[in-house]
Amino acid sequence: MYVGRFAPSPTGPMHFGSLVAALASWLDARAARGRWLVRIEDLDAPRQQPGAAAVILRTLERLGLAWDGQVIYQSVRAPLYEAALARLQRHTYWCGCTRREIADSALGHAGDGAQIYPGTCSRGLAPGRTPRALRLRAAAGAIGFRDRVQGAQSQTLAREVGDFVLYRADGQFAYQLAVVVDDAEQGVTDVVRGADLLDSTARQIHLQALLGVPAPRYLHVPVAVNAHGEKLSKQTGARPVDPAQRDRVLSEALRFLGQPATPDLDEAVAAWDVAAIPRRRTTALADG
Ligand SMILES: [Zn+2]
Repeated sequence: MYVGRFAPSPTGPMHFGSLVAALASWLDARAARGRWLVRIEDLDAPRQQPGAAAVILRTLERLGLAWDGQVIYQSVRAPLYEAALARLQRHTYWCGCTRREIADSALGHAGDGAQIYPGTCSRGLAPGRTPRALRLRAAAGAIGFRDRVQGAQSQTLAREVGDFVLYRADGQFAYQLAVVVDDAEQGVTDVVRGADLLDSTARQIHLQALLGVPAPRYLHVPVAVNAHGEKLSKQTGARPVDPAQRDRVLSEALRFLGQPATPDLDEAVAAWDVAAIPRRRTTALADG
């Protein structure tokens, strides 16, 4: 049984980029006669906007993108993430480096812009140092997977990402940990999301292998960017999706995904063609 999901962060109202991800995921699930779940990724409290989750859910409803079952919220699932950390214990170590020390010692930048940690604390924390973050030892070998749109992918975590953070001593669980735990716990078989997360996938597959949970299939759709190549978001001034303009908004998102533009979602499900999705990571929009 196909199980898909849409997992927005409640940092603001829904914008075109997140609509594209939601619609692609919904269409893929409905075309497979599967279930489609919604999960609110509200772990990063400082970035959140009060009420944004409710606005996103109301927008999905008004667009006709109905979900199955209860919406889950990551902020109340800490015991699950703690249990996963306990199971990963022998693959993790405490890092005491400050931001400054990491910036000064980094081996370069990973694809997502994060600094590549050189493993300074991997043999144990020096006496007197405060533990700041729990890191996972990155896999030495290449991790390969086939993305349903982007094709064959490969990443060597040890060289391209470094030992990455799963948990911070201030109580913050990392996105990479939470997403893997939740996808497994919810029985997600198919992850459909924006290609800005393509670089996270090998980390998630590594975690799935260490936790002994199945890896879902992956499909990464192009990300809408503005004329400067910046992802559309509240920060880059993207306009929120207006559900009162439902037909126009859905048609634009379908066209973006290489699908026939129709405001009729039943037609869109029947016409859903993964092979027609543009095989690239970003698509610039004239007007963000
Ligand atoms: Zn360190």
